[in-house]
Amino acid sequence: MPTMTKTDDMRAIRDELLVLKESPIYEYRTANKFFPVVGEGSHDSKIMFVGEAPGRNEAKTGKPFCGAAGKVLDALLVHVGIPRDSIYITNIVKDRPPENRDPTPKEIEIYGPFLDRQIEIIKPRVIVALGRYAMGYVMEKFDLGLELEPIGKAHGKAYPAKASYGNIDIVTLYHPCVAVYNPNNLPNLKKDMEILKKYRD
Ligand code: URA
Repeated sequence: MPTMTKTDDMRAIRDELLVLKESPIYEYRTANKFFPVVGEGSHDSKIMFVGEAPGRNEAKTGKPFCGAAGKVLDALLVHVGIPRDSIYITNIVKDRPPENRDPTPKEIEIYGPFLDRQIEIIKPRVIVALGRYAMGYVMEKFDLGLELEPIGKAHGKAYPAKASYGNIDIVTLYHPCVAVYNPNNLPNLKKDMEILKKYRD
């Protein structure tokens, strides 16, 4: 049997997401002709960003962070000199929740294992959790549940953790949408983002 490449493994995830009828938002996706948003970027990246769930632009195009929050993320990446195509960007929930509502525990339970598989494919050195949902999921997954704090305290921190393939760091940041709602937050987001400089090269 030919060996599966990382791209093959990601395609397998996409194919399963396309027919994930047990998801509570599967019908909403198909009725609106939306796409599941698998993720985008380098499969060999040391840095993996995890957001919450696709918004409308993302579900229409199948690309993560391509709307207003994506513009903020792009500015943050430019600020620390990390090219967007050198990282991998995905979300916990791969389909758009209606009206941009918060993801439900059931949705996180259904889509979380896909993120787990993506982490095993990419084997990042650092996982950057954007916002409280990504932070909660990723920290629980890596047995850091006891260290969980509100995002208002955890933002800009790095937590050492053990992955199946070695030592990693979990970096917790505010979700970029906080600067969409209030542009005055952008300087603080930029400052927090500087923690990623040490993983750049
Ligand atoms: N917000 C997210 O959490 N993810 C996206 O892909 C877009 C907006």
